[in-house]
Amino acid sequence: MRTVGIDLGGTNVYAVVLDGDTVVGSAKRRTPVDGGRDGVLEAMAAAAGKALKDGGLDLADVSAVGIGTPGVVIDGTVGSSANVPGFDERFDLAGALREPLGRPVRVANDVTAAAVGEHRLGGGRGSDSLLCVFAGTGVGGGLILDGRPFEGVHGGAGELGHVIVRQGGAVCPCGRRGCVEAYAGRRAMELTAERRHATGTPTILFDVMAEKGKTRATSGVFRTAFESGDLLVADLLQEAAEVLAAGIASSVNLLDLDRVVLGGGLADKLGAPFQRWIEAALQPLLFLQPPEVDVVAAELGDDGGAVGAALLAREVA
Ligand SMILES: [Zn+2]
Repeated sequence: MRTVGIDLGGTNVYAVVLDGDTVVGSAKRRTPVDGGRDGVLEAMAAAAGKALKDGGLDLADVSAVGIGTPGVVIDGTVGSSANVPGFDERFDLAGALREPLGRPVRVANDVTAAAVGEHRLGGGRGSDSLLCVFAGTGVGGGLILDGRPFEGVHGGAGELGHVIVRQGGAVCPCGRRGCVEAYAGRRAMELTAERRHATGTPTILFDVMAEKGKTRATSGVFRTAFESGDLLVADLLQEAAEVLAAGIASSVNLLDLDRVVLGGGLADKLGAPFQRWIEAALQPLLFLQPPEVDVVAAELGDDGGAVGAALLAREVA
């Protein structure tokens, strides 16, 4: 079966055409910042068209379209996504794209879609009870339980970033305190670095940012500063690894999972050393001993969400 998968992000829209287990076409577009919701919907349809063209195909050649979107997804509708224009207020995303695409549409949360991709074709192959962790600007999580994506009663399952690891701790971008993301989300880490720098702790993080011409401390900026021996950055990354381990351990202790797939910008850029820190901090926190949880790297990279969305589209084909 041939399906299209579209992964909508705050910065880019990725689209793939999946034929069996093989990506036969792909495309990437910027997510428009002006043009509101209609502009975003047009960009999604255009990315799908470009991926089809890349594979020498058109819409008549595919059975269905899957979409991964930020926000909370319920029955094809999406809401609560602050990073995409017009996606904060709940609306029928499946309905809005069914007509222009002329194909059945399946909508899922973007992290859930990425987890499905990793489960079937990436680092999660061979496991049917796994947690996918995506550490980037924020921290996302996706659950596969008994071989199926678990989305929860209200579409809110898998929010590893908001598992509370330090009661009354640092303020999280969500407004609560002590969440994993308050320590392991890149945005929160940058704010912590700014605060410590302002009170006299030396760091080259902001010099690296300026040298690279970035307005934000990206994952690459963190990596360069770390590899240059920056102690403040090493400290923040070690804390992020320990906090991620605590959140992962709590999830594993609750659900008895056998695999953790680690991805996202920060995890991808920092690679094996960061993964080893998390593993080392994780082992003693696990209830079942000896631990039988494998931590592995995500394998699908930027296409993971679109590949997962294309797999989910088979449910409505
Ligand atoms: Zn939070």
